[in-house]
Amino acid sequence: MNKLDADVLIIGAGPSGSVAAKILIQKGYSVLIIERQKFPRFSIGESLLPQCMEFLEEANMVQAVIDHGFQYKDGAAFCRGHRHTVIDFKEKFSQGPSTTFQVQRATFDKILADDAEKAGAVIHYEEEILEADFSSDIPCLTARDKEGNINQYHGKFVLDASGFGRVLPRLLDLEYPSDFPVRQAIFTHIEDNITAPDYDRTKILVGIHPEHKEVWYWLIPFSNGRCSLGVVAEPSFLAKYEGSSDEKLKTLVHESTDLRRILANAKYDTPCNQITGYSANVKSLYGNKFLLLGNAGEFLDPVFSSGVTIAMKSASMAANLLDKYFKGESVNWQKDYAEELQQGVDVFRTYVEAWYDGRFQDILFHPNPDKKIIAMIASILAGYVWDQSNQMVNQSVRRLNSLAEVCREA
Ligand code: FAD
Repeated sequence: MNKLDADVLIIGAGPSGSVAAKILIQKGYSVLIIERQKFPRFSIGESLLPQCMEFLEEANMVQAVIDHGFQYKDGAAFCRGHRHTVIDFKEKFSQGPSTTFQVQRATFDKILADDAEKAGAVIHYEEEILEADFSSDIPCLTARDKEGNINQYHGKFVLDASGFGRVLPRLLDLEYPSDFPVRQAIFTHIEDNITAPDYDRTKILVGIHPEHKEVWYWLIPFSNGRCSLGVVAEPSFLAKYEGSSDEKLKTLVHESTDLRRILANAKYDTPCNQITGYSANVKSLYGNKFLLLGNAGEFLDPVFSSGVTIAMKSASMAANLLDKYFKGESVNWQKDYAEELQQGVDVFRTYVEAWYDGRFQDILFHPNPDKKIIAMIASILAGYVWDQSNQMVNQSVRRLNSLAEVCREA
């Protein structure tokens, strides 16, 4: 029998990998994380949702995050032409934290990974998983380190937390096309120099293009006078704009009255990045001795900043279910993991679809919103999509459709 390198092997040290590792360590298991890159490294996904604070709390990572002094966040602001709506997470329906942070992911991910390492997780950086073998009782991962050495690792179970790397979906033929059309994001970090008195740094600003409601911008302020700025549209739309990605982004910002005003003095000092076709799905979120976490499973869309929260929820569920499994208790991976996780993801899916076809925008910009309904929607936008006591969660499609109907008629 092969010698075990750890109880659990984790592919990737993003938020899902580090949170899963820390919870497992706290429960007394040994963990080896294999991470392709050297940290700190850039990652997109900078606006967190309050729901994810519960998973950071479970992993005892909140203090490490607070200590860094990231930008405090308590809501989301939306603008379309002259219409503005502010969702205050403190007015949400669900129990649980109502504030969180906007984070530079290079630093944030390193804080979480260092914390997991300090607690006892072993992390091999700059080592890439190339192959995975689940044919015997003990799963085996094959990796190449930065010196070019090929190493094999054995564990009782594998968690794939490789994000957009999607290691096991690729290697095990689990990839499944997303229902969403291909979209593209162009983004950068800027020195924002914002002086507009009505601008609130404690909220992500989601702006909608004045003429194309399916084209939207994000402005995510950090605590150091800088912002993450991005635009999302279908590639054919962006292709109509001339010039480099930097020029396209600036032109598009200029087309939005609000962003043009707010960013009048911004300094664009960092070349733009772009990512296309990020929505992804899988045939199954689990298999013989492995689970897919976070983006290695499904990624919907960035519009509601749900990615890190879903990643951490999957990490928490995976670690707790593995604990039961290792103790010999029965675990139904389909029901206890895939379906439970999917329930919340499907709520976000309902809202993402309604965002792009305009139904949810009609609700958001309704001039006389019902306070009770806004509280339930605030819960969803704060990430509490697993709260079945929220009627906008447990009957999300039906409720959203009838609400959109009422708003449209009004
Ligand atoms: P990741 O954070 O991607 O971590 C995966 C890690 O695995 C990486 O460090 C990678 O190097 C490593 N890895 C990959 N392949 C291998 C390999 N072969 N071997 C070893 N290691 C490997 N989410 C939000 O919550 N808020 C937002 O505001 C937000 N904005 C977004 C904007 C855009 C345009 C996009 C596309 C996404 C956005 N997201 C946002 C989503 C967010 O980026 C992801 O959901 C989140 O990072 C997923 O975390 P993770 O732990 O699953 O994976």
